[in-house]
Amino acid sequence: MVERFEVALNTPAGRLTTAIDVPTGFIPITAIVPVTRRLGEEASQLEVQRVIAAGQTISCRMGCAACCRMLVPLSAPEAFALREYVGQLPTDRRTLLLNRLGDTKDRVKREGLWDRLNDVAEAARPVPDEQLDPLNRAYYALRIPCPYLENEMCSIYEARPAACRELLVTSPAELCQDLVQNPVTPLPVSMRISSILGLVWGSLTNSPPRLIPLPIALEWAERHEAESRRTWPGSSLLDQVLDNMWRFLSQAFTNRSRASGKEP
Ligand code: SF4
Repeated sequence: MVERFEVALNTPAGRLTTAIDVPTGFIPITAIVPVTRRLGEEASQLEVQRVIAAGQTISCRMGCAACCRMLVPLSAPEAFALREYVGQLPTDRRTLLLNRLGDTKDRVKREGLWDRLNDVAEAARPVPDEQLDPLNRAYYALRIPCPYLENEMCSIYEARPAACRELLVTSPAELCQDLVQNPVTPLPVSMRISSILGLVWGSLTNSPPRLIPLPIALEWAERHEAESRRTWPGSSLLDQVLDNMWRFLSQAFTNRSRASGKEP
């Protein structure tokens, strides 16, 4: 049994209205991940339409995966969802992915970053940007292709993290060869879905809103598997997601007003 909710969100790029089906009974957190990502993608589409109407173009194309060398952060619910997704793949596909993840782990360990990634994922309190930025830069400097990347295309496209869906650029694609040094212009993101899911999970489990680096996400989800089996009423999970979305959108309106020199 599902219940249908009509959702309306005012975003800086326009009004998002959509219908969402949520199971009426108790559900695990992973059940709310797809609809949450969908809302994020619909908000992102409004931004795409806005920049196109302003005469800009989105440079991202299939087969262009320069950004798939960055350290992608996942919320805990997304890490659990990714583990479920990989777990239901045919054995040969799953083995291939797990082998590639193992190769990535070996390389990251050799470079001395593996323990730092785990420290971020297991931190007892939110990790400040001053600590995250050097780690992100050190990881990106290695240009390690994402273990889920195949022939410069995402092999888990329908299950890819929200952070991957949110990164679109309007600057020329060649600038993405060095996302740190070049003046890359990303599409504005008014609600970060990984942060929203992280906050929901933090409040449900009374834990810090953690972000888990993609290369260690399956191992992290395995270690915390018991937590992933907890359930909550579907409508209550949706309420928490929407509540956090409204907060992000309110902040996005304020930020854009300030950036344009107008008071909110
Ligand atoms: S999950 Fe897919 S889209 Fe995200 S970094 Fe990896 S290959 Fe790229």
